[in-house]
Amino acid sequence: MGLLTEGSPLSWKDTKSHADHVRKHGIIQFINEFKRLRNRTKDVLYWGDEVEYMLVKLDHENKTAKLSLKAESVLQTLQQVEKDHPDDHPTTWRPEYASYMVEGTPGKPYGGLMAHFNLVEANMRRRRMEIKECLGKDEIPLSLTAFPRLGSGDFTKPQTTPTPDAGASRSLFFSDEVIFQGHPRFRTLTRNIRERRGEKVAINVPIFKDTNTPSPFLEDLTQYGDKGESQKGAKPDHIYMDCMGFGMGCSCLQVTFQACNIEEARTLYDQLTPLCPILLALTAASPIYRGFVSDLDTRWTVISQSVDDRTEEERGLKPLEKEKFVINKSRYDSIDSYLSCDIYSDIDLVYDRDIYQQLIDAGIDDLVSRHVAHLFIRDPISLFSEKIHQNDEEDTDHFENIQSTNWQTMRFKPPPPKSNIGWRVEFRPMEVQLTDFENAAYTTFLVLMTRVILTFGLKFIIPLTKVDENLQRAFKRDAVLEQKFYFRKDILTDCSPPEAEECIIQCCDGRQCRLQDQYTEMTINDIIHGKDDFPGLIPLIEHYLEMEEIDIDTSCTLKQYLNFISARASGKLKTTARWMRDFVTSHPDYKQDSVVTETINYDLLMKCAKISEEQFTNEHFQADTDKLLPPVVETKTSDEIPQAVLKQQELINKKVARNGTLMNGN
Ligand code: GLU
Ligand code: MG
Repeated sequence: MGLLTEGSPLSWKDTKSHADHVRKHGIIQFINEFKRLRNRTKDVLYWGDEVEYMLVKLDHENKTAKLSLKAESVLQTLQQVEKDHPDDHPTTWRPEYASYMVEGTPGKPYGGLMAHFNLVEANMRRRRMEIKECLGKDEIPLSLTAFPRLGSGDFTKPQTTPTPDAGASRSLFFSDEVIFQGHPRFRTLTRNIRERRGEKVAINVPIFKDTNTPSPFLEDLTQYGDKGESQKGAKPDHIYMDCMGFGMGCSCLQVTFQACNIEEARTLYDQLTPLCPILLALTAASPIYRGFVSDLDTRWTVISQSVDDRTEEERGLKPLEKEKFVINKSRYDSIDSYLSCDIYSDIDLVYDRDIYQQLIDAGIDDLVSRHVAHLFIRDPISLFSEKIHQNDEEDTDHFENIQSTNWQTMRFKPPPPKSNIGWRVEFRPMEVQLTDFENAAYTTFLVLMTRVILTFGLKFIIPLTKVDENLQRAFKRDAVLEQKFYFRKDILTDCSPPEAEECIIQCCDGRQCRLQDQYTEMTINDIIHGKDDFPGLIPLIEHYLEMEEIDIDTSCTLKQYLNFISARASGKLKTTARWMRDFVTSHPDYKQDSVVTETINYDLLMKCAKISEEQFTNEHFQADTDKLLPPVVETKTSDEIPQAVLKQQELINKKVARNGTLMNGN
């Protein structure tokens, strides 16, 4: 979840007093790095996934499933291989927000060979196995986006007690002990977000109104020790939550790409942005919060509200006096400007004009300057006393401090200092799936999309206000089938030909066209499979794959991934969110009152555990999953690329490189 600096965290008051210092030096550090690295070129597109896991303890006798707060000790074991062999470890492990979470990535990034796609699932499996080996009896790792009874009654092992009047969260439901204890960052962020905001965060998610759900649905929060603050923040007909843990205690699947140079990174950042809502809806996996069925299928707005540290002035509730800006979004939200093309950035960008000018004066172009000056409207929300004074020629901690607490749908990442890593782009919205098969499928799909974008020079870019509208739609129950999304019609050219006279805009390549003629509303099924003149994302990928030499095993694996995504898009298979809803509402204990009881939770997680276990035990994974997964899953994923394939693909790559490589894009 970002930069982990060792040291002693400052209080919020002291952090705030250093905010200008951090911003000032953060910008100098960025300028120095940018100048040093803007011409850096790499010749391969590297990529890698990140999966966040939850540790769950099942109690079969009492029929409970709880979150096991063991991450610190588990991580110590998991990280040992990396410590012993820093240059050669198959997996990498990092802490996450909660003491029941760990985050795993492949030990080294994947590269340009087609056969690399065949490694993803095997590596994810291996990660799951590695966690399992650190756990005790009846404990399992689950790649679960949101734990259904997080913050509901006694939900942790060992038991914890919230402290509404003391500590970092002050939550009625979620004890500070549930925050990862091995590093002060997470507790500090929690406290500082609350203190900066001037009150506890208030997260409200519409409840799914079933026939017996009280109407209006409004809990009496005094039963949890509320003295009024929470009740004030709780909206009728909403599930109310009150701390960062409800959001950052959710898990996701992220994919990072290293581009061959900064231009390619900017292109990917922009062209992948319109895919964020689409992939969020397709991966929807979190319909239950605090033990209640919600009316949303995804975690996004929950996390967004959970780290919303804007003051009342910044939220526009009071006239500006102390603050500099009214800010339209939380720190965790969608992006507000593009990096390669200006005309589609139609959100009124809030940015720091002085910082912008400083960047421009340093010779940095308008779009990057705006982007950074926008990120820097935020205060640092965690600062360590040892890190206040830095060498701006060498360090980038102040820049990273602000950058890594802007949790947006996409992240544009400059190369870290003194490393051989290049310009990167991170795709952050996807919800994590229960099985390695699904997570590998979405990861692969996205990476293939980057290849398709760069190879064919595709344009998905549409106005950002439309992307934001899509994101709102993507949150909704069954969005994948019920909603339409704005999507670009003509993805092959920069602009449609000029038509009517009004609203003519100048495009990046100098031609003129009407902005609103470039996009239309489509279902996800249309977007994925194509409709009328729009070719569809899967046919585009298939077209790309036809041009590539692919070994048989990888080809078989890819086919299964694409078939699976096709089935999710068409509704032949259910999203995880729909599957969970159906499980709960057809459970014999369910009383049509939106409540997910301890037993329902246990049965649901037992089913999740079975599905994620069966991937290993069944040679031909044939799970009874009630249309969550295909009836038979049998990819040819493998831990290593066979020597013969490796040789052959390297030869092909060399040949392509001589002829001008496809993968390096346009
Ligand atoms: N867990 C967060 C999410 O679900 C992301 C944290 C991170 O940036 O790693 O989006
Ligand atoms: Mg993470």
